[in-house]
Amino acid sequence: MRILITGGAGFIGSHLCDRLLADGHTVIAMDNLITGNTDNIAHLAGDRRFSFIFHDVTQYIYVEGPLDAVLHFASPASPVDYLNYPIQTLKVGALGTHKALGLAKAKAARFLLASTSEVYGDPLVHPQTEDYWGNVNPIGPRGVYDEAKRFAEALTLAYQRTHGLETRIVRIFNTYGPRMRINDGRVVPNFIYQALHSQPLTVYGDGSQTRSFCYVSDLVEGVVRLLHSEEPEPVNIGNPAEMTILQFAETINRLTGNPAGIVRRPLPVDDPQQRRPDISKAQRVLGGWTPATPLEQGLASTVADFRQRLGLL
Ligand code: UDP
Repeated sequence: MRILITGGAGFIGSHLCDRLLADGHTVIAMDNLITGNTDNIAHLAGDRRFSFIFHDVTQYIYVEGPLDAVLHFASPASPVDYLNYPIQTLKVGALGTHKALGLAKAKAARFLLASTSEVYGDPLVHPQTEDYWGNVNPIGPRGVYDEAKRFAEALTLAYQRTHGLETRIVRIFNTYGPRMRINDGRVVPNFIYQALHSQPLTVYGDGSQTRSFCYVSDLVEGVVRLLHSEEPEPVNIGNPAEMTILQFAETINRLTGNPAGIVRRPLPVDDPQQRRPDISKAQRVLGGWTPATPLEQGLASTVADFRQRLGLL
């Protein structure tokens, strides 16, 4: 297949590039680099089946030649980034999705949307199943991401129903691993950075809010299976092993031997109190897919990557 990945220089996008090249496909990564980084794809520069196009996908997307699939992964993805780039976040989810869908239609390519657990907002149903409609504050600071992704899902299914486009939608739950931006503000990079500098970990609120962390290779395996599946409607991909942020902080301090403990900070506005994917649909439609990487193993790889990039070896 010849595949375009928008956001291909980002954290998940770049891991997808690696995986799809390893599977024998030709990959074009596209990125405007506001949160992505070419360091993530520098190792692919010598691969003749790989190319990179610097482009903002909210503008008309031109790609020469045929395409078999368009994977739309371009978006800021951290609550801190939504605060810094609120309009870009809305534009890439709305206008960028429109352009990427138009391209997929013109090329008769399959379209896969990277959606998010944020479509469930601060969920009142737990764990979250795909048929839950969510509890989203449209005008809060996170609304720029949540609503853009909800619009993106609606537009994707409108293209499927109106134009017969082949569509896939993955709702990605918290994912971590090597290449996460060190200063992206999310809990995994923050805690690892702080722990490696013997600083106390900044726990927001009382730390009783929960998340479920999925290692990036497990996420990528699910996305690739979804791409090759026949499921047009949203599928949750994530790891159902749920923990409180306080437990997560203790795990990071233990794994890194950080003696500095924790410090409390105010809880951000609209921070979801609980989040855990129900992955029974994924297991059913993706041939028994299930996350395989234990948290401690995935964190060990992530910490090693952070040490290297921070020059702490
Ligand atoms: N969080 C925290 N300390 C940090 C960063 C985040 O306690 O330094 C909390 C945050 O309030 C949230 C959880 O960790 O409850 C996950 O936050 P993240 O920004 O990673 O993403 P989210 O899951 O909220 O989209």
